[in-house]
Amino acid sequence: MLEKTVAELSVALKAKKVSSVELTQGFLDRISKYRDLNAFISLDPERSLAQARAADARLATGQAGPLTGIPIAQKDIFCADGWLTTCGSKMLSNFVAPYDATVIERFNAAGAVCLGKTNMDEFAMGSSNETSFYGPVKNPWDTQAVPGGSSGGSAAAVAARLAPAATGTDTGGSIRQPAALTGITGIKPSYGRVSRYGMIAFASSLDQGGPMTRTAEDAALLLNAMCGFDVRDSTSVDQPVPDFSAGLNSSIKGLKIGLPKEYFGAGLSADVAKVVEAAIAEYRKLGAEVVEVSLPNSQLAIPCYYVLAPAEASSNLARFDGVRYGHRAPEYKDLSDMYCKSRAQGFGAEVKRRILIGTYVLSAGYYDAYYLQAQRLRRLITDDFNRAFEKCDVIMGPTTPTTAFNLGAKKDDPVAMYLSDIYTISVNLAGLPGMSIPAGFGADNRPVGLQLIGKYFDEARLLNAAHQYQQATDWHKKSPKGFA
Ligand code: GLN
Repeated sequence: MLEKTVAELSVALKAKKVSSVELTQGFLDRISKYRDLNAFISLDPERSLAQARAADARLATGQAGPLTGIPIAQKDIFCADGWLTTCGSKMLSNFVAPYDATVIERFNAAGAVCLGKTNMDEFAMGSSNETSFYGPVKNPWDTQAVPGGSSGGSAAAVAARLAPAATGTDTGGSIRQPAALTGITGIKPSYGRVSRYGMIAFASSLDQGGPMTRTAEDAALLLNAMCGFDVRDSTSVDQPVPDFSAGLNSSIKGLKIGLPKEYFGAGLSADVAKVVEAAIAEYRKLGAEVVEVSLPNSQLAIPCYYVLAPAEASSNLARFDGVRYGHRAPEYKDLSDMYCKSRAQGFGAEVKRRILIGTYVLSAGYYDAYYLQAQRLRRLITDDFNRAFEKCDVIMGPTTPTTAFNLGAKKDDPVAMYLSDIYTISVNLAGLPGMSIPAGFGADNRPVGLQLIGKYFDEARLLNAAHQYQQATDWHKKSPKGFA
């Protein structure tokens, strides 16, 4: 039962083949069996099982929706009432959220069960889950490898069947990159689709929550629950939310796929290229047409992002001062010493690096040279996409330049680490929806992801294209040895 998808579990729950309590207990047992993966930061079985019992009662009345009774692992960036919510940081290691993020509230309303809070890079800064205060997460496909980041715990949990589905957040690739590296499906919706209320902020103009699942069909079910206007988030978009499940079975004959030539050049490893090309060939068989497009400024996405994201982070993280939020140093001389010591002790090295960069690029003497210039670049990158979408419906390419690298391999080389998001970051800068689906394996037998990028608010088309591919292939059904 635990290997089933959300859609299958939903049918089983309604048919009374299994109860939510049984499912929840089953996944909790599996999580403890595989605790060496370090996929979860906190579990609260009592709380999860209470939700499961309530879901079973709702199922018994026939008032259940598609997610009623489904256990879902939540990235530890989402505030959940009564749950420890650490954001992967020592700074918040004792923070029990007093309220629910909108995303959590929506899952609760749908009757889903919160299975636990997943491990993540500290404040979502990272691409390998190695910056977490709670230690790295292992990739179930090869425990020597990273699962990607920052939503590494969610990705590992879904890949190892410790949870049927999970949430992630994506500021520069943190849903898509770990999805690719662990062979699962993940979608970052258009900026504004999913409320950021109660989702601890990293870079507010880029952050977006989304589902991490085995299949596109499941991603649609979760997105249906997650999306929608929220008055409590001023960047939430008041735009009708379609039923993302409704169009999954439409034919993709005539779908125009744009392949950006910049995504297939130097830096892309040969084995990943081969898998992506095979996936495109499969799409041709399904009736899609392929055209070449160009995103000429894509090599500027990383420098642009590493000015803007730290700038926003330095401002967002100012609230963690040991007074309003966060760890307070046990000993200090005066107020200013208390701030300094609390922040020095509470934040890890990567977070400090970002705060330093961000404060620097926003300082009076450098604002024009760095911050403003990066804002201009952001516009050029967005314009590239708009032009490319005049020629195609969906853009496809690799999600990452390589398969999962080994734990420790890039830990001391931040620039090499930053380059693992080369194909994902520009999508956040433009605010577009992006998705990664499993498409095969590299030379090292580690998973490869195919990235799909859509027009604004065109998630339904991405999900449709992904679902059609998953109907024709079975990469998404593969599971890591030892976790089958
Ligand atoms: N790896 C990128 C970073 O460290 C993106 C992280 C994310 O999307 N949250 O900033």
